[in-house]
Amino acid sequence: MDRSLLPLFAVLLSPWTAVGDPEGPAPVDGAPPSKIAVVGAGIGGSATAHFLRQHFGPEVQVDVFEKGEVGGRLATVTVNHNDYESGGSIIHSLNLHMQEFVKQLGLKYRRSIAGKTAVFNGKEMILEETDWYLLDLFRLWWRYGISFIRLQMWVEEIMEKFMRIYKYQAHGYAFSSVEELLDSLGGSGFINMTRRPLSDSLLELGVSQRFIDEVIAPVMRVNYRQNVSIPAFIGAVSLAGAQNNLWAVEGGNKLVCSGLLKIANANLRQAQVNAISPVQSGEALQYQLSFTTAARTGSELYDIVVLATPLQGSVGSGVQFQGFSPPFNQLPGNYHSTVATIVHGYLNTSFFGFPDPRLFPFASILTTETPDLFFNSVASVCPVNISTGFRRKQPQEAGVYKVFSPQPLDKSQLKTLFRSYYSVQVTEWQPYSHYGSSQGLPPVELHSNLYYLNGIEWAGSAMEMSSVAAKNIALLAYHRWNRQTDMVDQRDLMHRIKTEL
Ligand SMILES: Cc1cc2nc3c(=O)[nH]c(=O)nc-3n(C[C@H](O)[C@H](O)[C@H](O)COP(=O)(O)OP(=O)(O)OC[C@H]3O[C@@H](n4cnc5c(N)ncnc54)[C@H](O)[C@@H]3O)c2cc1C
Repeated sequence: MDRSLLPLFAVLLSPWTAVGDPEGPAPVDGAPPSKIAVVGAGIGGSATAHFLRQHFGPEVQVDVFEKGEVGGRLATVTVNHNDYESGGSIIHSLNLHMQEFVKQLGLKYRRSIAGKTAVFNGKEMILEETDWYLLDLFRLWWRYGISFIRLQMWVEEIMEKFMRIYKYQAHGYAFSSVEELLDSLGGSGFINMTRRPLSDSLLELGVSQRFIDEVIAPVMRVNYRQNVSIPAFIGAVSLAGAQNNLWAVEGGNKLVCSGLLKIANANLRQAQVNAISPVQSGEALQYQLSFTTAARTGSELYDIVVLATPLQGSVGSGVQFQGFSPPFNQLPGNYHSTVATIVHGYLNTSFFGFPDPRLFPFASILTTETPDLFFNSVASVCPVNISTGFRRKQPQEAGVYKVFSPQPLDKSQLKTLFRSYYSVQVTEWQPYSHYGSSQGLPPVELHSNLYYLNGIEWAGSAMEMSSVAAKNIALLAYHRWNRQTDMVDQRDLMHRIKTEL
């Protein structure tokens, strides 16, 4: 999601059940685990390694397996000697885990460069941001009544409840499923929001259909490349990211992942994990991980394993579950494809109704749900390192643009959007879960000491969601290992925390 596109809108039970006893055969003699494996070195896996180290202490060996690049969906591409985010790019100011990581790692915030946004319906701009905030407000009110105020209040209420997670985690509480986590934050209302279409929730709130079509749909198209039938909870996460106060990491967001692995003192194992199987020896349960490196295949035993990569659909990790009884089913659900094309060239402003590029005032263009429109958004992007004198290129100059589209752009589509170009770089992503209302939320505990992080993505895919899940799994693994049942799935936490010393 390229949330830098959105300043205009400044005004967000699984059929699988855990196999094995969650209180099950863990430490034989109260000894700490000696080896923990994390599969995946994206932000989820790196943050898990960091939190595991915090909770289990310096003695345990933490191995992080990564088959590709550290960072996973946080990645950059180089254009004309500068690097640009091609994956996860924007972080909300209230994403407290990400903030804390940046602080601990001594990284810097990348300042955002202002730029105006417009919404295009395939023929013309139907909404244009101006230089005057009050004028923008007046126009929104004129066109949509008080829909945008209702929306803002709704998003703020959800965010306020979501923020409780930081308090719960700071007090050491963990949750055994995504449902339990959501329930503790916002009760059954939050869980229902993972099943109900966004458009239904907004209409019930009194938001107009026109506002949904012209404002909400474009935001969903750019953030999740899906339409307004995505679940309301995900829609709210996405709308929160359409507010102001967004930031990114100077030098690239993926620096957080390598930094966390370093401070966790984790062993990065450049290897693809192929299979996992339980190994019971007397009272002790371990997991055997089979893996392939560039040079060899091997296997090793671990006391605790965290899978920090999507398991579902074609994006799946390729990990086979062997010897589990009963056998594991394939997790339901799939991931959505999207293409990020980074173009260095001259935007064809005529296509948007501005024959003279010098009169084109927009940095970002969102689109409505229009048949035949081959792209979701196009935006002028800034490099991951911004020097003091940096300024955004004007449309009459050659600039760097990011286009999101459902399919790779062909030559004629590129020619439609750009008068001419020097370079084109294409990254095909499976960035987000394909949200349907039927598949339910995947489990967190797959087996006694085997955990799955990316089920959280069915409630919302974002760097902070993976970080929240990472902290939860580190706490959960710690409490399960030490049989501290009073720290898992506790009710009425707000009250408990207030009365704790
Ligand atoms: C184009 C795009 C734009 C986005 N925009 C934003 C945004 O603006 N803001 C935001 O907050 N989020 C955004 N996101 C979402 C965000 O990037 C993801 O939610 C987050 O990075 C997921 O991190 P993760 O660690 O959970 O998973 P991943 O980053 O997918 O990490 C999983 C890792 O596991 C590795 N792996 C997989 N299988 C194996 C195996 N068998 N053995 C070893 N290693 C394995 C993979 O190589 C990968 O590195 C965006 C994503 C994309 C793609």
